Amino acid sequence: MFSGNDDPARGRTRRCLAHHLQQPADNKPDPSLQPALGGRAARAAMWLLLVLIAVLAGPARIAIARDVRLGVYDNPPKIFMQPENRPGGIFIDLVRQIAAEKGWQLQFVPCQWQQCLAALESGELDLLPDVAYSSERAEMLDFHATPALFSWSLIYRRRDVTINSLFDLNGKRVALLRGSVQQAYFNELLRHSSIQVTFVPAENLAQVFRMAGSGEADAAIANKYFGDFAAHDSGLRDTPIVFQPVRLFYATGKGRNADLLDAINSRLIEWQADPQSFYFDTLRYWQQGGEARIPPALWWAMGGAMLLLLCAFGAAAYLRREVAARTLALRRSEQSLRIAAAVFQSQEAMFVIGPDRKVIEVNQAYTDMTGYVPDTLPERTIPSFTLEDSVLDQRAAMWETVQRSGRWQSEIWSRKQGGEHFAAWLTVTAVPAPDGAISHYVGTQTDITERKLVQDQAMRLAFYDPLTGLPNRRLLLDRIQHALAMNARHGRVGALLFIDLDNFKDLNDTLGHEVGDQFLQQIAQRLSHSSREADTIARLGGDEFVILMEDMGASEEAATQQSHVAARKVLAAVTQSYALSGGSHHTTCSIGIALFSGAGLSAQDLLRRGDLAMYQAKKAGRNTLCFFQPEMERALTLRTSLELDLREAVAGNQLMLHYQPQFDGENRMTGAEALLRWHHPGRGAVPPGLFIPVAESSGLILQIGAWVLRQACLQLAEWSGDPVLSQLQISVNVSARQFRDATFPRQVTDLLGQTGVRPSRLKIELTETMMIEDIEDTIAKMRLLRDLGVCFALDDFGTGYSSLSYLKRLPLDQLKIDQSFVADILTDPNDAVIARSVVALGTALGLGVIAEGVETAEQRDFLASIGCHHYQGYLYARPGPASMVGELVRADRTVVAIKNA
Ligand code: C2E
Ligand code: CA
Ligand code: CA
Repeated sequence: MFSGNDDPARGRTRRCLAHHLQQPADNKPDPSLQPALGGRAARAAMWLLLVLIAVLAGPARIAIARDVRLGVYDNPPKIFMQPENRPGGIFIDLVRQIAAEKGWQLQFVPCQWQQCLAALESGELDLLPDVAYSSERAEMLDFHATPALFSWSLIYRRRDVTINSLFDLNGKRVALLRGSVQQAYFNELLRHSSIQVTFVPAENLAQVFRMAGSGEADAAIANKYFGDFAAHDSGLRDTPIVFQPVRLFYATGKGRNADLLDAINSRLIEWQADPQSFYFDTLRYWQQGGEARIPPALWWAMGGAMLLLLCAFGAAAYLRREVAARTLALRRSEQSLRIAAAVFQSQEAMFVIGPDRKVIEVNQAYTDMTGYVPDTLPERTIPSFTLEDSVLDQRAAMWETVQRSGRWQSEIWSRKQGGEHFAAWLTVTAVPAPDGAISHYVGTQTDITERKLVQDQAMRLAFYDPLTGLPNRRLLLDRIQHALAMNARHGRVGALLFIDLDNFKDLNDTLGHEVGDQFLQQIAQRLSHSSREADTIARLGGDEFVILMEDMGASEEAATQQSHVAARKVLAAVTQSYALSGGSHHTTCSIGIALFSGAGLSAQDLLRRGDLAMYQAKKAGRNTLCFFQPEMERALTLRTSLELDLREAVAGNQLMLHYQPQFDGENRMTGAEALLRWHHPGRGAVPPGLFIPVAESSGLILQIGAWVLRQACLQLAEWSGDPVLSQLQISVNVSARQFRDATFPRQVTDLLGQTGVRPSRLKIELTETMMIEDIEDTIAKMRLLRDLGVCFALDDFGTGYSSLSYLKRLPLDQLKIDQSFVADILTDPNDAVIARSVVALGTALGLGVIAEGVETAEQRDFLASIGCHHYQGYLYARPGPASMVGELVRADRTVVAIKNA
């Protein structure tokens, strides 16, 4: 034991010792209080600071002597025994200063760390400096509140050992202080990884560093104060592995020496609030090696106490900044270390590979996934793997990429230890060392078997028809594309069969959708059985199917021949009867055949050709096949361009209405039929027979029809002011599509309301096609309008599928004998018979009958002879503008109103 307050020198070990010796002996104001600054300037500075501290500290208090036994162990520069058993270091200087102020008699008790702790707990020691706080220690010891120092731990490596990250510690021996908090902390950090570290405990830090320096250990753990102080001389280097920030205190045994802790605490609070305090001077002293870094010349040049004060302030501020920066870096490094540890214990399978491409480490999740631990991996490398479209091991290619770009990732087929293959997502990332070389590689592997299953299912949904299991349109288009490319390249001819059932809708409507589905499934089976293995049978939707026959020979002739045979086979197969829940059923289909050799044709094109040919087969009477002809495409092209022009016509006022008068048997005008006229600036007059079907199929008819109705009503409104013209009726042609529209009745009533036209002046001409689809809806709408007074005529009567049963139910006013019968009524007995029947039917049903297309007086006379007394045709007048009707009436005022006039 030795007494400390009278210790004259606050020596340094080695580096600063030489400096101490240079200090002039005659100049000793009390070196224990001040850092040595060197030279006269330093001494002057010292004096000034001394004065300053004296002023700041105020008059020293008179204190009662108190013996304080203080443990001293070796942990420079915080605390240590200097040569000649003189205790020194940051903690010693600080406590000396407090002791001097408080009148404590310090007794320094040298001890080894563990021993010191035991002595403190037992009460043999009153104070132990440099104790890191931990909750366990707080159960045995008391601490003051304000930390005396902040520190952290670092791993130092021997110069020839590479340690850049936690992973590099695997298999290494690490020297550290026996029983230190660092060991517990580090163990906890590594607990969840399988990084194996062998700890080599030592009694003091000097020994820790000696062991690492001499090769007994590969690395050492020390606090940063000791490390910075001793690493260089021990041949050690610091590493980026920083951890465990600690707060350091003077500790005392539990429940003892509260007065000491209080005094230390309040002094620390004061000191730490003041950058010029003794506290910061002391830190600076021990960290700078005792030399003031201010050149003497500067002292002379500037001089003055204020400047000195500023410099001292600056130094303290610098220190604080340094501490703050290191603390931040520490926090970051600490955080990344924690993340690394957390990741390694994560659910994701991970492995670490050394620069020699041998696996160093795998985590538990990897072992769980693959069964492998590093030692059971063949040649200690990652297991061979393949890609979906290749059976070759891809490891070499992977390494090539990692080497080049630092990273590789892909979906792979990997192998488990038991040999089982599985789909995985693999990433491998190179981890560079600070010098740029790759220190190791980190990989992750995710089992994506489940995800693949879901993908497969999604793929089925995306590419196959759920009802029949056949490829859908998307997949078919893909196959067509492929076939087109292959045939183009190899000079082969293929064929596409476009199949549409002839009466599926009826079956679906009468037997229900469930039976309809059964039916489609059976059709799919028959198509499959009647085609070749290599053919693709697809369902486009509804009752449309396609058979794609990719290679039908080298010549078009051969392909025509073969596809004809194939289509016949399909027709025959489809016609066989079907056993369905609703009983047995028969059907037929229409087939369009489009040949292809590949060049200049898109998949969509080919499909459309098949569709066109199929449509042609339907027109040819169904249950038959039809080959695609280029004319079909030309017609389609015309249609398409017509549609484009028609859109412009609607917007650009190219449409107008003509009227064709209708007469009774006494040559009196009864009304006029409104007929659309389109004058296209380039095409000239386009006949309605050409553009009305286009308007119908494109949906434009809704817009056009509404316009026609409005024009007709406006015309009626105009005529309503004239006593004669006001008696005329206007017939308006309404397309099925237009009449089908739910808003149609509303449209008509609104128009009548807006124009104030009497409903009985308006006659709507419907065709028989309207009666085929949804007859109930048709009847309902007709009733609604007829109740208002609107009249109805059945146009083109005799050409469609007339059925007496529905004719009776329709609220009609008139039947219109189609002009095709009228044309040959005198020459073709059949037409005459039909005309007669129509008249008879009309009479029986109480309906009026009008003949259209009456061109000659003979025709008119014949019609009159069979009982038809209303006429429309060139014999009377050609269709013309409304003004023409007005002129005709003015010239010959024979006008008669029919019905409700
Ligand atoms: P449609 O309803 O049968 O109209 C009668 C057609 O016969 C008109 O042809 C008319 O000009 C023509 N015609 C009249 N008298 C004679 C004659 O003595 N001899 C000959 N050879 N033909 C005669 P257009 O104007 O070419 O109309 C053709 C078809 O276009 C109409 O046949 C009708 O189905 C449709 N259409 C015309 N305007 C409209 C309309 O506004 N809406 C709808 N949906 N269809 C219309
Ligand atoms: Ca008509
Ligand atoms: Ca007609």
